[in-house]
Amino acid sequence: MTSWIRHSAARGILTSRYPDRAATDEELPEAGRTPTAHPEELARLSDGERSLCPTGAIREQAVDQGRCIRCERCFAFGLRPLGSPAMNVGTREELRESAGLADRRPTSVAPFGTSLHVFMIDVGSCHACNAEVLALGTPYYDLNRLGLFFTNSPRHADVLVVVGVPTPEMVEPLRRTYEAMPGPKAVLAVGACAIDRGIFADGPRTGSSVGEIVPVDLYVAGCPPPPVAILEGVLALAGRGATPEERR
Ligand code: SF4
Ligand code: SF4
Repeated sequence: MTSWIRHSAARGILTSRYPDRAATDEELPEAGRTPTAHPEELARLSDGERSLCPTGAIREQAVDQGRCIRCERCFAFGLRPLGSPAMNVGTREELRESAGLADRRPTSVAPFGTSLHVFMIDVGSCHACNAEVLALGTPYYDLNRLGLFFTNSPRHADVLVVVGVPTPEMVEPLRRTYEAMPGPKAVLAVGACAIDRGIFADGPRTGSSVGEIVPVDLYVAGCPPPPVAILEGVLALAGRGATPEERR
């Protein structure tokens, strides 16, 4: 027992301090940040340069964060990652306009209490988004310390986290999972595949996006998004998301 106390005292607290403190560089690495550019920079791009983006994320006025898979191809013609850490959590329109949570104060989408139960469904991921969601249950992120819990049944869930691009076989299970949840309930789509079919948009086995099958309340962009951004998404659904001031 004494040795365990000595060991803990020597190591200190290893659990993430998020959201009480801002996310660290390790939790929100630059490598996962979406590129950004002013509309005039985007307007200068040639059609050939735009076509290098594998997901068509580069639009006239903004980079669609929901489609961007952070492949960094566009860095060759001048786009750069966002200068400051951004969670890239927002509505579909906010991600399309590269606004994310940067300018808004998140509010709860449903009258949830302080404790939320989360059920994850994988409708066709490469497993990376799946793994990042499950990382929230590790001692480092320890989502239980925030009153958040994974549940193994949609009948006990408040929040449905969806990862992957829906394959035909998973369309009906996704719909039935949503219908099995009691109200109030919310849906969080995690990763480019769940947002708009990502790199598999033109694949032979992909049709509808998650938002065309169930009503999505909030999206977490990335390929995959880091666990801290997914955590931010769940907290935002509960009306406990950080404001920009609190995040600094
Ligand atoms: S990082 Fe890749 S996916 Fe994102 S805008 Fe650039 S080229 Fe497109
Ligand atoms: S968004 Fe990227 S990491 Fe997530 S399932 Fe799709 S391909 Fe994999």
